[in-house]
Amino acid sequence: MLVAWAIAGLAVGAVLNILVARLPRRRFSFGWPVRCRYCRAPLALSEVPALASYLFHGGKCTACGHRIGPRYLLVEIATGALFAGLYLRFGMSWPLLVYSLYASIFVIITMIDLEHRLILNVVTYPSILLGAALSFVTPGLEGGQGLLGGLFYGGLFLLFYLGAVLFYRNAVALGLGDVKLALFIGLVTGLRGAFIATLLGTLIGAAIGIWLMLFRGKSSQATMPYGPSLTLGAAVTILWSPWVG
Ligand SMILES: [Zn+2]
Repeated sequence: MLVAWAIAGLAVGAVLNILVARLPRRRFSFGWPVRCRYCRAPLALSEVPALASYLFHGGKCTACGHRIGPRYLLVEIATGALFAGLYLRFGMSWPLLVYSLYASIFVIITMIDLEHRLILNVVTYPSILLGAALSFVTPGLEGGQGLLGGLFYGGLFLLFYLGAVLFYRNAVALGLGDVKLALFIGLVTGLRGAFIATLLGTLIGAAIGIWLMLFRGKSSQATMPYGPSLTLGAAVTILWSPWVG
């Protein structure tokens, strides 16, 4: 079952790649055809998952020969690995389904934030509603634990955001998208999980920020996306914290 769930993760990763490409362009369909990013030729089914493209077509579009980026492959492998990790954590259970869904949302948010420096409302709003609703029927999040987690993490980042705007004219480039993402993460990790996710997320963010300042010059700090640090912290929390699920 572990292998089956990991393969399901690879397949989900292929769908996530399509959504990551389409959502920022306000296209909300999974629909066919999926087109080559470079020549717009419709892709065959055996070309759409990056893994299949690399296996059968050398990782190139069969129409224009343009190499598809390794990041598409990376998204599929990362999603497969996340699904496998969640299976090891939860076994075949209701929380496995719920957290696999949340992990998929994290992948979408991370990739779009890295590419566009954006966390889209069209992703966060439905995710927040979903996280709030499912918190009532997910072990570890019932009894208001999920809602308290959302209130804590979202509230904390709202304070960070207001502080950044008031005192630094938002030189740290924290966005309201980050606040909404923090709210979502709190909803799905619960209050105790949210403490750990906050700690990990801010530590990872600080580490990346320092690395950027040291090696890329100070101005990079202003363009650093915070979303990926927060989602990474959340993923680690969900996979290892005894307080989630
Ligand atoms: Zn092409």
